[in-house]
Amino acid sequence: ATPKDGLTAEVVVVKSLDGIATRSPDDVTGKIVFYDEPFASEHVNTFRGYGASVQKRIYGASRAAKLGAVAVLIRSIGTGDDDHPHTGSLRYTEDAPQIPAAALGAHSADKLAQILEKNPKAKLFLKMNCQTLPDVLSYNVIGEIKGSENPDDIIAVGGHLDAWDTGHGAHDDGAGIMHSIVALQSLQTLGYQPKNTLRAVMFINEENGLRGGKKYAELAVENKEKHVIAIESDAGGFTPRAFRFKGADSSLAKMQDWMQYFPDNTIDAIRAGGGGPDIGPLNKADGTPVAAIIPDAQRYFDFHHSPADVFSAVNKRELELGTASLASFIYLIDQEGL
Ligand SMILES: [Zn+2]
Repeated sequence: ATPKDGLTAEVVVVKSLDGIATRSPDDVTGKIVFYDEPFASEHVNTFRGYGASVQKRIYGASRAAKLGAVAVLIRSIGTGDDDHPHTGSLRYTEDAPQIPAAALGAHSADKLAQILEKNPKAKLFLKMNCQTLPDVLSYNVIGEIKGSENPDDIIAVGGHLDAWDTGHGAHDDGAGIMHSIVALQSLQTLGYQPKNTLRAVMFINEENGLRGGKKYAELAVENKEKHVIAIESDAGGFTPRAFRFKGADSSLAKMQDWMQYFPDNTIDAIRAGGGGPDIGPLNKADGTPVAAIIPDAQRYFDFHHSPADVFSAVNKRELELGTASLASFIYLIDQEGL
């Protein structure tokens, strides 16, 4: 947060962390640093673009503070042509004061850039009253359908319950939660009796430290649970395009034969290199094979971590195609094994 009455300072514009690295304390002391870098749109996979753009949000405040900056602004890391600033995690390092940091929506960032171009000495007033409250106890929520042949063998599918509170968290990750619950519900409605136990896991606190995923892995090891696979949906409720899988090559080859079962314009590939933040700890702890559903990614960062991520941003049909694809994938794993 800023001081109670806000702060006013001149603004230094840099593009990225590389940009701030070339600045000296003389340039920056007492000023607000504005990281004005567009989303890395050269990547067809927008998650790569996000990865390439997000470092300044995570480390930009401390890098600037080290040079004497009093606050940091970033151009929101998103693809939306709107004025919804996105939020996300930030890491303060030990070697610099914890200065306030905020994101500007694309339109506001354009406006600020224009003002500073005309008048580099322009001053900006910034007032923020955010705070970090102490942790409280919370829970993963789990539901399961017991396996009829191998009740101790678990096929888990999940997403995360928590969201950044600027929006509803509809795509991130309400969609993943609905994918997981409704995939199992669909199989149940069809009267399907699974061989293995099918488990839907709604992880808590993915966004701020993976606490739910870590606890889940810890308890799985402690209770000697045996997972056939853990599948994650945490990439939005858009039209499903692919699965990713991390496990034995023979399992991947087997899954690639299943492509014939998925209709055109839905899943068209199962690629190596799967998993997700919430199931990563389980994979690490006991080697459980992991997979992820990969929806179309072109619009995800129009909504991600922003006030635009609301229920109306999710298309019902696209969401249902994801659910159906997951249900089919789970069915095939349950029937054919890995
Ligand atoms: Zn998420």
